[in-house]
Amino acid sequence: MARIVLKFGGTSVGDVERIRNVARKVAAEVRAGHEVSVVVSAMSGVTNQLVGYCREIDPLHDAREYDAVVSSGEQVTSGLLAIALQKLGIPARSFQGWQVAVRTDGTHGKARILSVDTAPLERCLGAGEVAVVAGFQGVAETGRVTTLGRGGSDTSAVALAAALGADRCDIYTDVDGVYTTDPRIVTKARKLARITYEEMLEMASLGAKVLQTRSVEMAMKHRVRVQVLSSFEEAPGSDLPGTLVVDEDEIVEQELVSGIAYSRDEAKVTLLAVADRPGVAARIFGPLADAAINVDMIVQNVSEDGKTTDLTFTVGKADLDRAKQVLETSRAELGYRQVVTDPDVVKVSVIGVGMRSHAGVAQRMFSALAEKGINIQVITTSEIKVSVLIAEEYTELALRALHTAYGLDAA
Ligand code: ASP
Ligand code: MG
Repeated sequence: MARIVLKFGGTSVGDVERIRNVARKVAAEVRAGHEVSVVVSAMSGVTNQLVGYCREIDPLHDAREYDAVVSSGEQVTSGLLAIALQKLGIPARSFQGWQVAVRTDGTHGKARILSVDTAPLERCLGAGEVAVVAGFQGVAETGRVTTLGRGGSDTSAVALAAALGADRCDIYTDVDGVYTTDPRIVTKARKLARITYEEMLEMASLGAKVLQTRSVEMAMKHRVRVQVLSSFEEAPGSDLPGTLVVDEDEIVEQELVSGIAYSRDEAKVTLLAVADRPGVAARIFGPLADAAINVDMIVQNVSEDGKTTDLTFTVGKADLDRAKQVLETSRAELGYRQVVTDPDVVKVSVIGVGMRSHAGVAQRMFSALAEKGINIQVITTSEIKVSVLIAEEYTELALRALHTAYGLDAA
C-alpha cells in the first residue's frame, strides 16, 4: 500500500463528465489498495471568470475579498468530486483549505504556505475515506481565506504530499508530461521520462506553464517525488509513466541540455548615455525595486570615452509602462540621455544540469542562432542555464534550431 496525492487541474475537471472520469481514476487507485488524497483545481475557465468579476466591480478591489471570491471555484470542484466518488461506492469527503488547515502568510492573492496540519486528513484516511482537498487556498493567521497565486493548486498538492509523507504526488494536467520544449512549436519535441528538480524549477520560472514555480521549489525542498501526467488517458495513473521530477542522482543518462524554454513576457529597456561612474546602477535599479518592478537580464557596456555608456535590461511586459514612468521621473537625477524600449522580444533559455561539467554549451547556442542569422541582444548565464534575448519574430526558428543543435529532436 502506498500513500499518494493526486492533483487534477482545471481541464481535467472541466465538466461533470470529466469529473466522473477523475472519480474513476481515483477509484482505481483506491481499489489498488492505496491511501489516496486528491487536490482539485477549479473547473477550467472558472477562476478567470471570478477574477473578471472582481475587476469589473473595482480594478483596485480588496485583496481579501478577491480571495473570498476566487477560492470558491475549488470549493465547488472538491464537493462535486466527493459526490462522484460516493456514487462509485468510494467513501470520500471534501476539505476546504481552512478545514485542513493549510496555514499561510497574509499576502492575499499570492500567499505562501507556512504549514499544513495533517491531523484531520489522517483521521479521514484512517477511516478509509478519500480526502478531496480544494487546492489553491489556505487560511491566514487572521482567520481569513487566502489564495496561493495563479496555478497554486500544484503547490497545494506538493505541500500536502510533503506533510503527509506521501510516496508519490501525481499531477494530472492537459499535457502528458514535461517536454524538451513546447511541442506546439517544435513538432520533434520529446517527452522527458525524468527531469531534475533544478531543471524543472528553471523550466517553470522561465515560462513552461506545466507546474507552478513554487510547487517545484517545495518539491525540491522536501524531496517529494512528483509525476506530471495526462488525465486524458484511460488507464489509471500508476500504469502510465508521465514525467518524473526527481533528484539528480536518479537521472540515468544525463543530457547536456534537457530542455529549452522561452518567455514572451519580457520587454527590453535601454538607457542611452548613462554616466559611467560608481553608484549609477544602484540609483537606476533602486527606484525600480521600490516600485516592485522585477529586473531580469542586465548588460552594461564599457564606455568609449570614459564618461557615458548604455545600459540595457529587461522587465516584465506588464511592468513596462510603469518602469518607463519611474525612469522618466528620475531622469534628471539619473543623468541619461534617452530611454528606448522594445516589447517585441523573447527570452530563449537552454537548461541542463549537464552543463555544469561540460564546456561549450553556450557556444553551441550562439553558433546555432548565428547560422539562422538571428541576432542576440542580451545574454545571461547561470550554472545550469544560458538565456538569450532575441527579436520575438524569431521565436519558432530559434527553438527549432536549438532543439536540433542540442540533439533533442525525436527520431
Ligand atoms: N484555479 C486556480 C487558477 O486557475 C489555481 C489552479 O488551477 O492551480 O489559477
Ligand atoms: Mg496549472
